[in-house]
Amino acid sequence: MYQGVYHGSKKHEPDLDKVMRRAWDNGMDKMIITGGSLNDSKKAIDLANSDSRLFATAGCHPTRCTEFVADPDNYLNALRALIKENHDKVVAIGECGLDYDRLQFCDKEVQLKYFEFQLKLSREFNLPLFLHCRAAADDLVDILQRNKEDIVGGVVHSFDGTIEALEKILALDLYIGINGCFI
Ligand SMILES: [Zn+2]
Repeated sequence: MYQGVYHGSKKHEPDLDKVMRRAWDNGMDKMIITGGSLNDSKKAIDLANSDSRLFATAGCHPTRCTEFVADPDNYLNALRALIKENHDKVVAIGECGLDYDRLQFCDKEVQLKYFEFQLKLSREFNLPLFLHCRAAADDLVDILQRNKEDIVGGVVHSFDGTIEALEKILALDLYIGINGCFI
């Protein structure tokens, strides 16, 4: 992250410090670093531990859900332990969800199974969900409705779906985030 490497080639020197300094200088009070897998979540938490204004999410992104396959319980327990040890820094479960635009990284069945599998962490730790949804709103809404008791709110980030999908998400008392890429 912010190492200056894009598509395997180095474009500039690492600049995370500069990026964060610009944010603080321009009035940002707090930031949440997104975790996208067990390892990513550890890195996000390490970074969050370096500054009292930084927080992190912990969970497994839809394109990384193959990481669950070998030993699902063990993977979930490792996420659990990480959240427990860093309960003052982890502020959401995620990012997790469904991404049908990028099935080349993880097939649909695996995404569906392990998105649902990690949802219980929300109620367990009383943390909201940081949700990712691409071309999969109906299935995402289905799973969230089915597990309503296990979830403690959340936001679908970078929402780029239809008005129908938006209404279904809002009806679940969830929020959406809008990304500048989708103008
Ligand atoms: Zn995302």
